[in-house]
Amino acid sequence: MATTSAIEWTEVTWNPTTGCDRVSAGCDNCYAMTLAKRLKAMGQARYQADGDPRTSGPGFDLTLHPESLEAPYHWRKPRIVFVNSMSDLFHARVPVDYLRQVFKVMWDNPQHTFQMLTKRSLRLRRLSPELDWPPNLWMGVTVESAEHVSRIDDLRRTGATVRFLSCEPLIGPLPGINLDQIDWLIAGGESGAHARPIEKGWVDEIRDSCLDQQVAFFFKQWGGRTPKANGRLLDGRTWNEMPELAAG
Ligand code: SF4
Repeated sequence: MATTSAIEWTEVTWNPTTGCDRVSAGCDNCYAMTLAKRLKAMGQARYQADGDPRTSGPGFDLTLHPESLEAPYHWRKPRIVFVNSMSDLFHARVPVDYLRQVFKVMWDNPQHTFQMLTKRSLRLRRLSPELDWPPNLWMGVTVESAEHVSRIDDLRRTGATVRFLSCEPLIGPLPGINLDQIDWLIAGGESGAHARPIEKGWVDEIRDSCLDQQVAFFFKQWGGRTPKANGRLLDGRTWNEMPELAAG
């Protein structure tokens, strides 16, 4: 049930739900939606339910997979696990009780570090008091442009122990970003046939904000037609900082 991940800042992916609906401009070229369409065509059982064509796509209807909840119990070696690379766990159609079950799996498996990302920060904030936050969960929100910096305020108001931002695909500048109570920031440009261009000045400004506010900074890629098209060097070096892993 775990898939080795090509994402630079994680090791494996784990999807207790699949499917989603677009919520903001960062979703315009959603890689998960494109992949779900392919997986449906290949006959994969988890990707057979079609989403609303206005906001989702073939094989991408929000679907719970309770049979996946067992998987982390069977991984012996400690892993860094990206939860829901193919969905958004704070989607309105994920019941609170199911969220609690996912959180319990993380509590029961302290040897692993779980990373979870959402664009639905309002629901994240509202449900936060109803959730028992495990210390081995890094909770993140996507901030693709200045239009969505309020997601950072929502994240700050949760009970998460480690908080991070994914500024990817970065489609606009984030001047004067407030990183108070934020532990980690990932930035990166978009990739694919319809990739929107990133500007170096935006990345410089974010990197400098991280340095000033002592936040770990990870620069994933410049993006382009393929993820590796323009590499990931910024001012002649890679930026691979991450929060400290809790002892399992
Ligand atoms: S929130 Fe994430 S998974 Fe959902 S449509 Fe947007 S980019 Fe895709």
